[in-house]
Amino acid sequence: MKIAILSRNPKLYSTRRLVEAGEQRGHEVKIINTLRCYMNTTSAKPEVHYNGNALEGYDAVIPRIGASVTFYGTAVLRQFEMMGVFPANESVAITRARDKLRSLQLLSRDGVGMPITGYANSPDDIQDLIKMVGGAPLVIKLLEGTQGIGVVLAETKKAAESVIEAFMGLKANIMIQEFIKEAGGSDIRCFVIGGKVVAAMKRQAPEGEFRSNLHRGGTAEIVKLTPKERATAVKAAKVMGLNVSGVDILRSERGPLVMEVNSSPGLEGIESATGKDVAGLIIEFLEKNARPNRTRTRGKG
Ligand code: ADP
Ligand code: MG
Repeated sequence: MKIAILSRNPKLYSTRRLVEAGEQRGHEVKIINTLRCYMNTTSAKPEVHYNGNALEGYDAVIPRIGASVTFYGTAVLRQFEMMGVFPANESVAITRARDKLRSLQLLSRDGVGMPITGYANSPDDIQDLIKMVGGAPLVIKLLEGTQGIGVVLAETKKAAESVIEAFMGLKANIMIQEFIKEAGGSDIRCFVIGGKVVAAMKRQAPEGEFRSNLHRGGTAEIVKLTPKERATAVKAAKVMGLNVSGVDILRSERGPLVMEVNSSPGLEGIESATGKDVAGLIIEFLEKNARPNRTRTRGKG
């Protein structure tokens, strides 16, 4: 197969591993800088141009689109889809996953367990909003945040009010969530490929911190999932329509609760914690599924 990896940085661990895994399995793998792709949408024959040439002959594309370039990145991916190139994740699914409120609405509609979550636009409604999620302590999250930045634990109602007011004053989009204390500063990352959890790790926050992000000094180790956790992760990935995803779960007294579903999950943490060849499994998924014109969206989304 000829595989394109849409990535802005060839040096990233995930990008390097996907190239390595693809080549090991006998494929031709090219890294394409998403932001350097350009397109002509008026022609009846869709093309993506890169460094002066039209990209041709690709069977599959692996989008590794950073949150900050979702808009242009999904447009580039859609163009590949219109050319009939099979995407590891479809553009519509990525767009869906990048919108946190939309994701939570879809997951709740399909009965996936989640922490009680609320959002509002106006500071006038803060009191009732806090009551809705069960009062303090509660977690306040900036919708645009990643790597734990913009996630705040408000221990008292007063603190919650002030922080929510401050964020709203800055016109930041936020959501407010029930604090799952019994998770004990840990969460579970389930790596799901083609409807199966292929690897899972438990991330633990350092002493005195509730955010388990590895970027915030968390540590990771392999974990054995319960059947319920496994089923929850698979269902969350399916609801989002993602073939490859990282489903983050909190272990609560009422069972597994999904926090978020990541459409470009990193490989470094999961491969080093579990020793599994996750990159190889992504390539294997493409081998089984990539046929010309297999994309259902054909860029319609
Ligand atoms: P980000 O997208 O920045 O990683 P998350 O929503 O994943 O933000 O939150 C970061 C971390 O904070 C999580 O990995 C988890 O450890 C902790 N956390 C988030 N929400 C809750 C919650 N409702 N209850 C308990 N801990 C939480
Ligand atoms: Mg997270």
